[in-house]
Amino acid sequence: MSGLLDGKALIVTGGARGMGAAIAQVAIREGAAVLICDVLDDPGQRLANDLGPEAHYLHLDVSDEASWAEGVQFAEDRLGGVDALANNAGITQASTIEAMSLDEYQRVVAVNQVGVWLGMRAVLPAMRRRGGGAIINTSSAAGVVGVHSRSAYVASKFAVRGMSRAAALEFGADGIRVNTIYPGLIETPINAGSKVREMADAVPLQRIGAPEDVAEIVVFLASDRASYISGADITIDGGYLAGISATNPNREES
Ligand code: NAD
Repeated sequence: MSGLLDGKALIVTGGARGMGAAIAQVAIREGAAVLICDVLDDPGQRLANDLGPEAHYLHLDVSDEASWAEGVQFAEDRLGGVDALANNAGITQASTIEAMSLDEYQRVVAVNQVGVWLGMRAVLPAMRRRGGGAIINTSSAAGVVGVHSRSAYVASKFAVRGMSRAAALEFGADGIRVNTIYPGLIETPINAGSKVREMADAVPLQRIGAPEDVAEIVVFLASDRASYISGADITIDGGYLAGISATNPNREES
């Protein structure tokens, strides 16, 4: 059976768990060779072992420029090149602006914002050598609207939205597509401790998303099926961002 990503090599950051792990899983199912990058080495290596010989793991801190050079080199040596990059790694920090330290703010920006920029810059020459490629940057619903006590996260995710568009303009002539995804409420470890499940009522589809809901779209965007999609903003949120309320105002209360 032919897969969407047959013959392609994909790098996924933050691939040890959550959405990144789902992206790795779906990409392997669709025939890709996958480089799982993360700072969580044990689960990352375990996942690569579970996914078989086409999956590899590498310690890569997305906020570190040298780490990216090693990652791209690894992909060229072991996977034969780089066709797709899922810039998925991210962190959050719950704190009001008043209570947050500058260091805390800068760490979120270093991973979520600078990390995406470093990744795009690092893979560019390798994708050129392949004659094209696809970059999928993970923003968030918090890249479209504000969220209380998440100023650094919101700022970093708005930045991803902007830099993706700039990159789509710059990379298009090389056949490299750059798209941004905006996951809504997705059940992953980043939400552990928050009451994400209780928010299903605010979602028009009345459920919290699964990592696979996002992974299927990332893999589609990485594939040649999406060959004319670039510079696009794609919400994957069950309709969460469509309006201000998912509740029918005419509904009779029982
Ligand atoms: P997660 O915490 O399960 O996964 C994030 C992964 O990124 C972890 O494996 C973590 O170790 C890794 N990571 C953190 N810092 C890193 C670094 N410096 N270098 C490399 N890897 C690093 O969370 P998730 O929900 O799967 O998040 C994936 C992406 O989706 C993030 O960018 C997040 O902001 C975004 N997002 C999540 C939601 C949600 O509701 N879960 C919604 C919108 C956007």
